[in-house]
Amino acid sequence: MDGLKALPPLRDVIARHGLSASKALGQNFLFDGQLLDRIARVPGSLESETVFEVGPGPGGLTRALLGAGANVVAVERDRRCLPALAELDEASGGRLRVISGDALEVDAEAEAGRGAHIVANLPYNVGTALLVNWLGSEAWPPWWRSLTLMFQKEVAERIVAAPGTSAYGRLAVLAQWRATARLAFTVHRSAFVPPPKVMSAVVHIVPAAQPEGVKLANLERITAAAFGQRRKMLRQSLKGVPGALDALDRIGIDPQRRAETLSVDEFVAIARIMGR
Ligand code: SAM
Repeated sequence: MDGLKALPPLRDVIARHGLSASKALGQNFLFDGQLLDRIARVPGSLESETVFEVGPGPGGLTRALLGAGANVVAVERDRRCLPALAELDEASGGRLRVISGDALEVDAEAEAGRGAHIVANLPYNVGTALLVNWLGSEAWPPWWRSLTLMFQKEVAERIVAAPGTSAYGRLAVLAQWRATARLAFTVHRSAFVPPPKVMSAVVHIVPAAQPEGVKLANLERITAAAFGQRRKMLRQSLKGVPGALDALDRIGIDPQRRAETLSVDEFVAIARIMGR
């Protein structure tokens, strides 16, 4: 860890390697060491654990993860960051492996291995797609042990939303069916360089045990149809989904209700009755 403590401040690293933030790559860097340590504490002790990090950039969060004792496998799309990350690998005694590439294409399970924690200050343009991939795998429990992810606050709120709120929708149902999701804390836009337009928040997600016999494709079909016309009654919005209205009838869900009023358990029950 001593090598990590001797590292120059991040701002110097960025200046030395000419890492001006690229908007196209969703680059909003964090420099505040206390905030970065706070994020690295969200998954619990990382001593000797493996962490898969998306978008290490100049390595602020990566430093905090390595400082917490983790072995880090990181995927970064911006090749300009690789020399700075190589310095970090050396300072950590070889506990950082960087894959140069696109997180949407990398086989994270093969790279990081089962049981890894995923921790990332996500590029906003790919954050939701990555989350849906991680939550949407057929195999459950998944290969990852937990997700600690920075999102735009509005997206974080959609992940943890309760029924009856305007933020409640497909993302909440998927996340809360498959996992326990909580908003750990919000992060002010001024913590980032450059500051994004909106506030951010860190979400912590841990896989939950799954009830048997629910097909992901069915749940997705129902939530897409129901929330696609969220102001309409279910008898209207689910009309085009084969078997859905029958399922409502069998469970005793009033077809005059609207999507927003259904609990996650009720959506899951409909999907289960629709078959495997
Ligand atoms: N982790 C750093 C921090 O906290 O300061 C940087 C976070 S910045 C919000 C997002 C990072 O993700 C950038 O370094 C960007 O180059 C990288 N990135 C963007 N799209 C990516 C992709 N598809 N795959 C991997 N990395 C990506």
